[in-house]
Amino acid sequence: MILGVLKEASTENRVSLVPAIVQQLVQSKVTVWVEKGAGSNAWLPDEAYEQAGAVIQNRETILQQATVLLCIQPLSEQESGNLNPSTVLLGVYQPLFQTAKMKQWAQRQLTVFSLDNIPRTTRAQSMDVLSSQANIAGYKAILLAANSYSRYFPMFMTAAGSIAPAKVLILGAGVAGLQAIATARRLGAVVEVFDTRPAVKEEVMSLGAKFVDVEGAADASSAGGYAVEQTADYQAKQAAAIGEAAKKADIIITTAQIPGKKAPILITREMMDMMKPGSLIVDIAAATGGNTDISKDQQTVTYKGVTVIGDSNLPSKMPADASKLYAKNVLNFLQLIIDKEGQLSLNFEDDIVQGACIAKGGQIVNERLLQAIT
Ligand code: NAD
Repeated sequence: MILGVLKEASTENRVSLVPAIVQQLVQSKVTVWVEKGAGSNAWLPDEAYEQAGAVIQNRETILQQATVLLCIQPLSEQESGNLNPSTVLLGVYQPLFQTAKMKQWAQRQLTVFSLDNIPRTTRAQSMDVLSSQANIAGYKAILLAANSYSRYFPMFMTAAGSIAPAKVLILGAGVAGLQAIATARRLGAVVEVFDTRPAVKEEVMSLGAKFVDVEGAADASSAGGYAVEQTADYQAKQAAAIGEAAKKADIIITTAQIPGKKAPILITREMMDMMKPGSLIVDIAAATGGNTDISKDQQTVTYKGVTVIGDSNLPSKMPADASKLYAKNVLNFLQLIIDKEGQLSLNFEDDIVQGACIAKGGQIVNERLLQAIT
């Protein structure tokens, strides 16, 4: 089989495979074609891919002839419309937010795997792109905040006066939130954290942050590690607690998401009215509506002295390591769908293969997507 690695659109600096992983695939008898310049934004020149055993190809040939196409972001309507129906697509397509595109791909008879849909089980952890990339997002969100903030993060006692440590509030303590806590702590900030899942309190405290308790959260134990929507009563109590914490905060990092749903609004304009001038919010949930009233993805907006940086693709700002980790996730998934002879072999009895599959045989087959569109 031919595995085709495409160069991403101009807004994405990552690449699906790095040379070290290409080498392993080539040793497993897979033919790997890489589009010219695919890795250039991640400091991976064509020569490195060639040395690893890949063939550098033009885009057109890869699109027409590859068995499996690797592209992190979805292909354009025009390009996907011209694909051979036997093509297998593998990327991160956010199918619950891209329902029209998924239906169109299904109609085209394409087989579509979206790595953000693998089950969050122990066996799937090595393929979990949401975790590997969210870890980067949490780290980068703090660095971005520190870089844009007009004050120090750490405490200093100097001859020219004392500096108080920055107060950082982190909303959502999933993979990104936990990494944001650790990074903010390393920089010397005082950190407060809120999440609807009380189970994360211990982890938060072990990282040296304070957990803001709000009682009465909806039970999310059957949601596979994800959050669920909350009652109006809980939301009111949560808003009061977050409002109090926001008043004191210098920096807020918002990461709260609910799979397939609009992100919850956690910071309202009324709360921002009470925030300190010069304070800063980095919202990594911006692409799904954002956690503030005013967030816009890939934009920086201000409201009464509060700056809100919306960016849901921070891993693209750290493309070398993001690609390295993403490629390892991809390799681990490919090992489930490639046989010993390097040929495609799809076993839908495997819960990971089935869970990641969005469309095949002209049908949408993903349970969560089917529930969302019917
Ligand atoms: P996510 O990106 O879907 O959400 C981020 C965080 O926002 C979550 O912690 C969520 O509880 C929180 N949140 C949602 N609504 C909120 C609200 N209204 N207010 C405050 N916080 C809110 O989550 P994620 O980081 O991808 O994963 C969440 C959890 O899933 C992880 O922390 C982990 O426990 C679990 N997980 C398990 C596996 C595995 O077993 N293989 C893999 C990855 C994650």
